[in-house]
Amino acid sequence: PLQAKTVRDYIRTIPDFPHEGIMFRDVTTLFADARGMRLCVDQLLAPFAGDRFDAVAGLEARGFILGGAVAHQLGTGFVPIRKKGKLPGKTFEQDYALEYGTATVEVHVDALQPGARVLLVDDLLATGGTAKAGIALLERLGAEVIGCAFVVDLPELGGRAALEQMGMPIHTLCSFD
Ligand code: IMP
Repeated sequence: PLQAKTVRDYIRTIPDFPHEGIMFRDVTTLFADARGMRLCVDQLLAPFAGDRFDAVAGLEARGFILGGAVAHQLGTGFVPIRKKGKLPGKTFEQDYALEYGTATVEVHVDALQPGARVLLVDDLLATGGTAKAGIALLERLGAEVIGCAFVVDLPELGGRAALEQMGMPIHTLCSFD
């Protein structure tokens, strides 16, 4: 029988990117498809129906593509969490560990009002390091992170478990081993 494509079906896997041995889950094929993009935004928001949000925050760079669409759907503004050195105003910084070395993300100090209720979005959850850094920045602004939504979960890398251990509601649309 003919089955409609799921979000997962739109995602392309590219072996050995960016390094040998890595299976890169490429969401550009999901975002490029009109039905895929709508499905993805609708499903990201589904468990939060009835929740009130003041803003959506997105992690650079694919979280910006999703986050703008999600914010539009919710009727909120969008706050970018960027890699160091990109935001023009005064920022808070947060370092986090990468496989090799560290990285830093930033947010504008005046991006949100204290008490703002925020949904954090990104394309993919792996170790959770990036999301944790984003949550830390939002909390430094005095915001309340109501939940985090990702298209892809790589559960073997432990991000979901780590974030849930912090008590954070986590929503993902599909997973890959
Ligand atoms: P984490 O910090 O280990 O959870 O890694 C998640 C971050 O790395 C997200 O910002 C993702 O966009 C990116 N990332 C890691 N692996 C992939 C992948 O296979 N496809 C797309 N993005 C990835």
